Amino acid sequence: MNEQKNIKPDSNTPPPAGGFGVKRIAIFGSTGSIGTQALEVIAANPTVFSAEVLTAHNNDELLVQQALKFNPNVVVIGDEKKYLKVKAALASTNIKVFTSEKALEEVAGMDCYDVMLAAIVGFAGLKPTLKAISNGKAIALANKETLVVAGDMVMRKAVENRVPIIPVDSEHSAIFQCLVGETRNKIEKVILTASGGPFLGRKPNYLVNVKREHALQHPNWTMGAKITIDSATLMNKGLEMIEAKWLFNLKPGQIQVVIHPQSIIHSMVQFEDGSIKAQLGLPDMKLPIQYAFGFPKRIANQFPRYDFKKINTLSFEEPDVKTFRNLGLAMEALNKGGNLPCIMNAANEIAVYAFLHNRINFLDMTDLIEKTMQNIPFIEKPTLEEYFESDGEARSFAADIISL
Ligand code: NDP
Ligand code: MG
Repeated sequence: MNEQKNIKPDSNTPPPAGGFGVKRIAIFGSTGSIGTQALEVIAANPTVFSAEVLTAHNNDELLVQQALKFNPNVVVIGDEKKYLKVKAALASTNIKVFTSEKALEEVAGMDCYDVMLAAIVGFAGLKPTLKAISNGKAIALANKETLVVAGDMVMRKAVENRVPIIPVDSEHSAIFQCLVGETRNKIEKVILTASGGPFLGRKPNYLVNVKREHALQHPNWTMGAKITIDSATLMNKGLEMIEAKWLFNLKPGQIQVVIHPQSIIHSMVQFEDGSIKAQLGLPDMKLPIQYAFGFPKRIANQFPRYDFKKINTLSFEEPDVKTFRNLGLAMEALNKGGNLPCIMNAANEIAVYAFLHNRINFLDMTDLIEKTMQNIPFIEKPTLEEYFESDGEARSFAADIISL
């Protein structure tokens, strides 16, 4: 199948990583910020990677463009109303076209790929990722909500199926890179860096008036809308604390957050002897994506390099959890565990959706999440079904409050 690819290797491309042929990538969420950057990585390394599965939710036009360029085995368009359009646009190819939420899981269960890039946003990414794990496929994980909602299940299944979960989130990729060669050494703590978002240093009397356009302007990263709002509220860092707990098997007290506005140090690990390792680089998600795809090999590239002479100040400060209360709520969920992170995540997804649709203001998001966390029954050791139920209950509860 690989010889059918439209993208042909050129003489400047490096030899395959590890010499085992082309790694076949399934990009779940190919039309998003992470998905499109992943395709850039694949296009730049056609002898190393191929795109075998592409999925979109609504954006049929971009999905078709991507499919024509990368000639995958399968595409999935989530929105069933767009199925016939996609099918017609790809009629002259051998690409299989599927639709519906269920199809995402079915395709995750196929054998036409080696690595799933989990780049769907939100809770919707959980089921296909679980399916890929039980199908024995390696996961390059961007979708942090998967671990926030059901991290215990996901990690347990990964161990049972001997499936590696390689983080794509830049902070977790940094920690992962710091841990290479350190398997026998105990982690004292990890230090997650946070840019602080567009409202760093602002107080509630300012935040009460900010509008979506303002909140969507991130100083250092260009990302999808949901994570950009999460970065502005600092919920993103809270989700990342929970993500770190599961990925690296940490206790809540071992996870520290520090504001680092330049986003050059992507995170750090402090070991038992007090030594701290950090991973640095310019903020560019293509780097952690490429690292996850190529692991354990690093792949040469022409991305711009960090120059100490140009950015010579790296600064650090404490997060303001009194103003950015979402981070405090996430710490509470991290400490209490059970289904509380799942409830918090569901309420946050509703809150961000409502804010993006100008239905509630910036600070209302926190109130909505807090009320939902207080009202949905706590379960200490939920089953997978109970996680799904808690997610549904929390969504309805939050949506009712704001009459969505
Ligand atoms: P985007 O919103 O840019 O893209 C989301 C992708 O998921 C799109 O392909 C979208 O399809 C698809 N999608 C959306 N909703 C659904 C659904 N209900 N079912 C199936 N597919 C759906 O998000 P990002 O790329 O920014 O983020 C993806 C994930 O990666 C998130 O979990 C985020 O937290 C994480 N991440 C992102 C980073 C970044 O720099 N962007 C950095 C670190 C982590 P369509 O385009 O058709 O709507
Ligand atoms: Mg991150």
